[in-house]
Amino acid sequence: MTATLPGKVYLVGAGPGDPDLLTLKAHRLLRRCDAVVYDSLVPREVLALVPATAERHFVGKRRGHHSVPQPSTNAVLVELAGRHRCVVRLKGGDPFLFGRGGEEAAHLARHGVPVEVVPGVTAGIAAPAYLGIPVTHRRAGSSVTFVTGHEEIDKARPSVDWRGLARSSDGLVIYMGLHNLAHICEELIAGGLDPATPAAAVQQGTVRGQRSVIAELGGLAREVRLAELASPAIVVIGEMVNQRVPACAPEPAAVEMPIPLRLG
Ligand code: SAH
Repeated sequence: MTATLPGKVYLVGAGPGDPDLLTLKAHRLLRRCDAVVYDSLVPREVLALVPATAERHFVGKRRGHHSVPQPSTNAVLVELAGRHRCVVRLKGGDPFLFGRGGEEAAHLARHGVPVEVVPGVTAGIAAPAYLGIPVTHRRAGSSVTFVTGHEEIDKARPSVDWRGLARSSDGLVIYMGLHNLAHICEELIAGGLDPATPAAAVQQGTVRGQRSVIAELGGLAREVRLAELASPAIVVIGEMVNQRVPACAPEPAAVEMPIPLRLG
Protein backbone atom coordinates (compact mmCIF):
# COMPACT_ATOMS: atom_id res chain seq x y z
CA MET A 1 0.00 0.00 0.00
CA THR A 2 1.49 3.32 -1.08
CA ALA A 3 1.44 6.12 1.52
CA THR A 4 -0.93 8.97 0.65
CA LEU A 5 0.92 11.78 -1.09
CA PRO A 6 0.06 15.43 -0.53
CA GLY A 7 -0.68 16.41 -4.11
CA LYS A 8 -3.37 15.85 -6.68
CA VAL A 9 -2.89 15.47 -10.42
CA TYR A 10 -5.45 17.01 -12.76
CA LEU A 11 -5.54 15.54 -16.27
CA VAL A 12 -6.58 18.71 -18.06
CA GLY A 13 -7.81 19.10 -21.63
CA ALA A 14 -6.22 22.18 -23.20
CA GLY A 15 -8.64 22.25 -26.13
CA PRO A 16 -7.57 22.28 -29.78
CA GLY A 17 -5.38 25.39 -29.72
CA ASP A 18 -7.50 28.54 -29.60
CA PRO A 19 -7.03 29.66 -25.96
CA ASP A 20 -10.64 30.92 -25.91
CA LEU A 21 -11.71 27.25 -26.06
CA LEU A 22 -10.13 26.42 -22.70
CA THR A 23 -12.75 25.51 -20.13
CA LEU A 24 -13.12 27.76 -17.09
CA LYS A 25 -11.94 24.87 -14.95
CA ALA A 26 -8.79 24.35 -17.04
CA HIS A 27 -8.12 28.08 -16.84
CA ARG A 28 -8.57 28.15 -13.06
CA LEU A 29 -6.27 25.14 -12.53
CA LEU A 30 -3.57 26.49 -14.85
CA ARG A 31 -3.55 29.76 -12.90
CA ARG A 32 -3.04 28.05 -9.56
CA CYS A 33 -0.96 24.95 -10.29
CA ASP A 34 2.49 24.31 -8.78
CA ALA A 35 3.70 22.17 -11.67
CA VAL A 36 2.64 21.53 -15.25
CA VAL A 37 3.51 18.56 -17.45
CA TYR A 38 2.72 19.17 -21.11
CA ASP A 39 3.43 17.90 -24.59
CA SER A 40 3.07 19.10 -28.18
CA LEU A 41 -0.12 20.80 -29.37
CA VAL A 42 -0.30 23.24 -26.45
CA PRO A 43 0.26 26.85 -27.57
CA ARG A 44 2.60 29.12 -25.64
CA GLU A 45 -0.30 31.44 -24.81
CA VAL A 46 -1.97 28.64 -22.84
CA LEU A 47 1.23 27.73 -20.98
CA ALA A 48 1.69 31.42 -20.18
CA LEU A 49 -1.27 31.15 -17.78
CA VAL A 50 0.84 28.97 -15.47
CA PRO A 51 2.49 30.94 -12.62
CA ALA A 52 6.14 31.81 -13.30
CA THR A 53 7.10 29.98 -10.12
CA ALA A 54 5.56 26.65 -11.26
CA GLU A 55 7.74 23.78 -12.43
CA ARG A 56 7.40 23.03 -16.14
CA HIS A 57 8.05 19.62 -17.71
CA PHE A 58 7.88 19.01 -21.45
CA VAL A 59 7.23 15.35 -22.28
CA GLY A 60 6.46 15.58 -26.01
CA LYS A 61 8.57 15.20 -29.13
CA ARG A 62 11.37 17.60 -29.91
CA ARG A 63 13.02 17.83 -33.31
CA GLY A 64 15.65 15.09 -33.55
CA HIS A 65 14.47 13.32 -30.38
CA HIS A 66 11.94 10.66 -29.54
CA SER A 67 9.04 11.54 -27.32
CA VAL A 68 9.40 10.80 -23.63
CA PRO A 69 8.31 7.17 -23.13
CA GLN A 70 4.96 6.78 -21.35
CA PRO A 71 6.46 5.05 -18.27
CA SER A 72 8.71 8.03 -17.58
CA THR A 73 5.82 10.47 -17.96
CA ASN A 74 3.87 8.35 -15.48
CA ALA A 75 6.83 8.38 -13.10
CA VAL A 76 7.24 12.17 -13.40
CA LEU A 77 3.57 12.64 -12.46
CA VAL A 78 3.85 10.43 -9.37
CA GLU A 79 7.06 12.17 -8.34
CA LEU A 80 5.60 15.67 -8.77
CA ALA A 81 2.50 14.73 -6.77
CA GLY A 82 4.83 13.84 -3.91
CA ARG A 83 6.20 17.38 -3.83
CA HIS A 84 3.35 19.64 -4.97
CA ARG A 85 -0.24 20.26 -4.03
CA CYS A 86 -1.61 20.90 -7.53
CA VAL A 87 -0.08 19.23 -10.59
CA VAL A 88 -1.60 19.84 -14.03
CA ARG A 89 -1.05 17.24 -16.73
CA LEU A 90 -2.01 19.31 -19.76
CA LYS A 91 -3.04 17.57 -22.97
CA GLY A 92 -4.25 18.87 -26.31
CA GLY A 93 -7.99 18.57 -26.93
CA ASP A 94 -9.66 16.17 -24.51
CA PRO A 95 -7.40 14.04 -22.29
CA PHE A 96 -9.48 10.87 -22.74
CA LEU A 97 -9.71 10.99 -26.53
CA PHE A 98 -6.58 9.49 -28.13
CA GLY A 99 -4.55 11.20 -25.44
CA ARG A 100 -3.46 8.34 -23.17
CA GLY A 101 -5.25 10.07 -20.34
CA GLY A 102 -6.83 6.77 -19.36
CA GLU A 103 -3.41 5.14 -18.94
CA GLU A 104 -2.11 7.99 -16.82
CA ALA A 105 -5.23 8.07 -14.66
CA ALA A 106 -4.95 4.33 -14.01
CA HIS A 107 -1.26 4.59 -13.18
CA LEU A 108 -1.82 7.42 -10.70
CA ALA A 109 -4.75 5.66 -9.05
CA ARG A 110 -2.66 2.49 -8.71
CA HIS A 111 0.01 4.50 -6.93
CA GLY A 112 -2.46 6.06 -4.52
CA VAL A 113 -2.19 9.52 -6.12
CA PRO A 114 -5.45 11.50 -6.15
CA VAL A 115 -6.32 12.23 -9.77
CA GLU A 116 -9.15 14.06 -11.53
CA VAL A 117 -9.91 14.44 -15.22
CA VAL A 118 -10.94 17.80 -16.67
CA PRO A 119 -12.55 17.23 -20.09
CA GLY A 120 -11.60 19.53 -22.94
CA VAL A 121 -12.89 20.53 -26.36
CA THR A 122 -11.63 17.91 -28.78
CA ALA A 123 -9.99 18.81 -32.09
CA GLY A 124 -12.25 16.37 -33.92
CA ILE A 125 -15.25 18.58 -33.22
CA ALA A 126 -13.58 22.00 -33.06
CA ALA A 127 -11.42 21.82 -36.21
CA PRO A 128 -14.40 20.99 -38.49
CA ALA A 129 -16.47 23.62 -36.63
CA TYR A 130 -13.88 26.26 -37.55
CA LEU A 131 -14.76 25.50 -41.18
CA GLY A 132 -18.47 25.60 -40.37
CA ILE A 133 -18.85 21.80 -40.59
CA PRO A 134 -21.19 20.18 -38.02
CA VAL A 135 -19.92 16.67 -37.21
CA THR A 136 -23.49 15.40 -37.09
CA HIS A 137 -26.52 16.65 -38.96
CA ARG A 138 -30.01 15.18 -39.16
CA ARG A 139 -29.78 15.17 -42.92
CA ALA A 140 -26.44 13.37 -42.83
CA GLY A 141 -27.35 10.26 -40.88
CA SER A 142 -27.27 9.48 -37.20
CA SER A 143 -23.83 8.21 -36.31
CA VAL A 144 -20.29 9.51 -36.28
CA THR A 145 -17.14 7.60 -35.38
CA PHE A 146 -13.98 9.05 -33.88
CA VAL A 147 -11.16 6.91 -35.18
CA THR A 148 -7.36 7.01 -35.23
CA GLY A 149 -5.56 6.68 -38.55
CA HIS A 150 -2.30 5.93 -36.81
CA GLU A 151 -1.96 2.64 -35.05
CA GLU A 152 0.99 1.04 -33.39
CA ILE A 153 2.01 -2.05 -35.32
CA ASP A 154 2.56 -4.09 -32.16
CA LYS A 155 -0.80 -3.14 -30.69
CA ALA A 156 -2.55 -6.14 -29.17
CA ARG A 157 -5.92 -5.38 -30.75
CA PRO A 158 -6.48 -5.70 -34.52
CA SER A 159 -6.10 -2.62 -36.69
CA VAL A 160 -9.03 -0.41 -37.69
CA ASP A 161 -11.56 -2.17 -39.90
CA TRP A 162 -12.00 0.65 -42.45
CA ARG A 163 -14.21 -1.43 -44.74
CA GLY A 164 -16.47 -2.26 -41.82
CA LEU A 165 -16.61 1.41 -40.81
CA ALA A 166 -17.59 2.35 -44.36
CA ARG A 167 -20.72 0.27 -43.86
CA SER A 168 -21.50 0.96 -40.23
CA SER A 169 -20.87 4.66 -39.59
CA ASP A 170 -22.56 7.59 -41.34
CA GLY A 171 -19.71 9.97 -40.59
CA LEU A 172 -16.03 9.58 -39.72
CA VAL A 173 -13.75 11.93 -37.81
CA ILE A 174 -10.18 10.71 -38.25
CA TYR A 175 -7.35 11.75 -35.94
CA MET A 176 -3.71 11.27 -36.98
CA GLY A 177 -4.89 10.19 -40.40
CA LEU A 178 -2.73 12.13 -42.87
CA HIS A 179 0.14 9.70 -43.07
CA ASN A 180 -2.10 6.76 -44.06
CA LEU A 181 -4.70 8.84 -45.88
CA ALA A 182 -4.38 7.25 -49.33
CA HIS A 183 -4.71 3.77 -47.84
CA ILE A 184 -7.63 4.79 -45.61
CA CYS A 185 -9.56 6.32 -48.52
CA GLU A 186 -8.95 3.24 -50.69
CA GLU A 187 -10.18 0.93 -47.95
CA LEU A 188 -13.31 3.03 -47.35
CA ILE A 189 -14.13 2.94 -51.05
CA ALA A 190 -13.43 -0.81 -51.15
CA GLY A 191 -15.84 -1.10 -48.20
CA GLY A 192 -18.61 0.50 -50.24
CA LEU A 193 -18.33 4.26 -49.69
CA ASP A 194 -19.08 6.28 -52.80
CA PRO A 195 -15.88 7.95 -54.10
CA ALA A 196 -18.04 11.10 -54.42
CA THR A 197 -18.65 11.20 -50.63
CA PRO A 198 -17.77 14.70 -49.40
CA ALA A 199 -14.69 14.99 -47.21
CA ALA A 200 -12.46 17.59 -45.61
CA ALA A 201 -9.06 17.81 -43.96
CA VAL A 202 -8.16 20.60 -41.53
CA GLN A 203 -4.60 21.28 -40.48
CA GLN A 204 -3.95 23.22 -37.24
CA GLY A 205 -7.64 23.85 -36.69
CA THR A 206 -8.62 26.89 -34.57
CA VAL A 207 -5.18 28.55 -34.73
CA ARG A 208 -3.16 30.75 -37.08
CA GLY A 209 -1.82 27.93 -39.26
CA GLN A 210 -5.33 26.64 -40.02
CA ARG A 211 -5.55 25.41 -43.61
CA SER A 212 -8.01 23.04 -45.15
CA VAL A 213 -8.98 21.04 -48.17
CA ILE A 214 -12.51 20.06 -49.12
CA ALA A 215 -12.73 17.31 -51.73
CA GLU A 216 -14.53 14.15 -52.68
CA LEU A 217 -13.29 11.01 -50.95
CA GLY A 218 -11.83 9.65 -54.20
CA GLY A 219 -9.58 12.68 -54.67
CA LEU A 220 -8.96 13.63 -51.04
CA ALA A 221 -5.50 12.10 -50.58
CA ARG A 222 -4.25 13.73 -53.77
CA GLU A 223 -5.70 17.15 -52.88
CA VAL A 224 -4.22 16.99 -49.40
CA ARG A 225 -0.81 16.13 -50.87
CA LEU A 226 -1.01 18.94 -53.44
CA ALA A 227 -1.98 21.44 -50.75
CA GLU A 228 0.88 20.10 -48.59
CA LEU A 229 -1.28 19.83 -45.52
CA ALA A 230 0.67 18.62 -42.52
CA SER A 231 0.17 17.40 -38.99
CA PRO A 232 -1.75 18.01 -36.81
CA ALA A 233 -4.83 17.50 -38.95
CA ILE A 234 -8.35 16.16 -38.67
CA VAL A 235 -10.06 14.41 -41.58
CA VAL A 236 -13.86 14.37 -41.78
CA ILE A 237 -15.69 12.10 -44.18
CA GLY A 238 -19.42 11.95 -44.76
CA GLU A 239 -22.50 13.84 -45.84
CA MET A 240 -22.14 16.26 -42.92
CA VAL A 241 -19.37 17.98 -44.89
CA ASN A 242 -22.07 19.07 -47.36
CA GLN A 243 -24.01 20.64 -44.47
CA ARG A 244 -21.21 23.15 -44.01
CA VAL A 245 -22.23 26.71 -43.13
CA PRO A 246 -19.12 28.84 -43.77
CA ALA A 247 -20.84 31.88 -42.22
CA CYS A 248 -20.71 30.29 -38.74
CA ALA A 249 -16.98 29.51 -38.81
CA PRO A 250 -14.97 31.49 -36.21
CA GLU A 251 -11.74 33.29 -37.10
CA PRO A 252 -8.78 31.11 -36.10
CA ALA A 253 -6.98 32.49 -33.04
CA ALA A 254 -3.79 34.46 -33.64
CA VAL A 255 -1.59 31.96 -31.80
CA GLU A 256 1.01 29.50 -33.04
CA MET A 257 0.65 25.76 -32.63
CA PRO A 258 3.92 24.03 -31.73
CA ILE A 259 4.21 21.40 -34.45
CA PRO A 260 4.92 17.83 -33.38
CA LEU A 261 6.91 15.52 -35.57
CA ARG A 262 4.58 12.65 -36.25
CA LEU A 263 2.43 13.08 -39.33
CA GLY A 264 -1.22 13.02 -38.73
N1 SAH B 1 -6.69 14.47 -27.29
C1 SAH B 1 -6.64 15.18 -28.54
C2 SAH B 1 -6.17 14.29 -29.67
C3 SAH B 1 -4.74 13.83 -29.50
S1 SAH B 1 -4.17 12.86 -30.85
C4 SAH B 1 -8.02 15.79 -28.83
O1 SAH B 1 -8.98 15.47 -28.14
O2 SAH B 1 -8.10 16.62 -29.73
C5 SAH B 1 -3.35 14.07 -31.82
C6 SAH B 1 -4.13 14.33 -33.08
O3 SAH B 1 -5.22 15.20 -32.81
C7 SAH B 1 -3.35 15.04 -34.16
O4 SAH B 1 -2.51 14.17 -34.87
C8 SAH B 1 -4.49 15.55 -35.01
O5 SAH B 1 -5.08 14.51 -35.76
C9 SAH B 1 -5.48 15.97 -33.95
N2 SAH B 1 -5.36 17.39 -33.60
C10 SAH B 1 -5.05 17.92 -32.41
N3 SAH B 1 -5.12 19.26 -32.43
C11 SAH B 1 -5.48 19.59 -33.69
C12 SAH B 1 -5.76 20.81 -34.36
N4 SAH B 1 -5.66 21.98 -33.73
N5 SAH B 1 -6.13 20.77 -35.65
C13 SAH B 1 -6.25 19.61 -36.30
N6 SAH B 1 -6.01 18.42 -35.72
C14 SAH B 1 -5.64 18.41 -34.44
